[in-house]
Amino acid sequence: MKIVNPATEEVIADVEMADAAEVDRAVERAVRAFSAWRAVAPGERARLLRRFAQVVEDHAEELAKLEIANAGHTVGNARWEAGNVRDVLNFYAGAPERNHGKQIPVPGGVDVTFAEPLGVAGIIVPWNFPMMIMMWGVAPALAAGNTVIVKPAEWTPLTALRLAELALEAGLPEGVLQVVPGEGEVAGARLVEHPDVRKIVFTGSTEVGRLIGAKAAEQVKRVTLELGGKSANIVFADADLDKAVATAPMSVFDNAGQDCCARSRILVERSVYDDFLARLAEEVRAVRVGDPNDPQSQMGPLISAEHRERVASYVVPGDVYASGSCPGGPGYWFPPTVLAGGSSESFRRAFTEEIFGPVVAVVPFEDEADAVRIANDTAYGLSGSIWTRDVGRALRVARAVESGTLSVNSHSSVRYWTPFGGFKQSGLGRELGPDALSAFTETKNVFIATE
Ligand code: NAD
Repeated sequence: MKIVNPATEEVIADVEMADAAEVDRAVERAVRAFSAWRAVAPGERARLLRRFAQVVEDHAEELAKLEIANAGHTVGNARWEAGNVRDVLNFYAGAPERNHGKQIPVPGGVDVTFAEPLGVAGIIVPWNFPMMIMMWGVAPALAAGNTVIVKPAEWTPLTALRLAELALEAGLPEGVLQVVPGEGEVAGARLVEHPDVRKIVFTGSTEVGRLIGAKAAEQVKRVTLELGGKSANIVFADADLDKAVATAPMSVFDNAGQDCCARSRILVERSVYDDFLARLAEEVRAVRVGDPNDPQSQMGPLISAEHRERVASYVVPGDVYASGSCPGGPGYWFPPTVLAGGSSESFRRAFTEEIFGPVVAVVPFEDEADAVRIANDTAYGLSGSIWTRDVGRALRVARAVESGTLSVNSHSSVRYWTPFGGFKQSGLGRELGPDALSAFTETKNVFIATE
């Protein structure tokens, strides 16, 4: 597979794609490594994960550069992402020594529970945040004593491959963390089908997530699904409008809108709608789109020509309220674009489907109930924001919106300290946070008779 820099269209690497037989060999190695890895004392497993975090830190700039070249991330984002990989490893390095079971009072003996590792976990990763999303699965899976095989997205395998090398450098035993680049329908599908892979963590589109869920069900295989989103940014008239307007663009255009948590629908209370839109247009025209290596750039290119074509299909001139600018020439550039208020079929489509690009659709609402109704009128339920100074309303709306990760007067979404995942067709299960290991363990109950 030719790996292309999306900002220049230059080929930067050639990566061999694994076939099903190669996946089978990786699973064999992972099964062999599992019995030794699960037996590593908790404190030693913690030490190895901390060392892995340190090696990542030592190579943070290199990892960031790879992500800039391979995924078109801006330098500021890519550095932050390398830091997140380190932090997630450090956070879950604390877990092996705290992976407690319970002691439950029962008659006639003692009852204890154990959190047993599952075995081999397969982690299937999308192209939008390659190294971070990989590590959100890898770190808790390893901490719980599983061995892991990662299948990166076809277009973006470079940081994953490097992280597997760094894991070995840090002292993780062979076979504990493997990266197998390959096509979804070949290598990914084989991981899902392989009976010795006991868990699949899939992050990607809802369409593929449904297929994987169905396939995994045949073996009652454990799955975590992190899927698409169409999150609402709800702005009430009493909000700090300056802040709401200033932060709205990057809550959807960050990573060129290729973010499952992008607040790609803005719902604005009718009385401030016109004012908000006019100010939003100003902000959007000021977004700096350009060379990802330039620290001034706020937004880079889209991942591929194919994806740019898909994004463009949602932008019909009659629906466009404002748009920013972007470079011409090589690279898969697309300008940040605001679609507003229309009743056209094309606007309806842009307002309901996940575009996964720098396109935001804005509509007015009448009151709190109307805002909640519009926010929930979607099959998705991943993220969202609520802007108001009324704390009671903030809590009422946060409880009423059917979504897994909400923020009030902020656009924060994924923080490794807190659980992350979707309602409805945005997913199944949760990643990150204090309970992440429960997605990689089975509870075993043991009763010991004392009589
Ligand atoms: P995708 O579904 O096309 O692919 C994701 C991964 O699945 C890739 O590695 C791909 O090779 C693999 N794959 C494809 N078909 C497969 C199959 N039949 N069996 C097994 N694996 C298969 O998604 P994408 O285009 O890479 O990513 C964009 C999507 O990911 C968006 O919908 C976005 O919202 C979603 N996403 C969700 C989250 C979240 O946490 N909820 C995070 C990031 C991205």
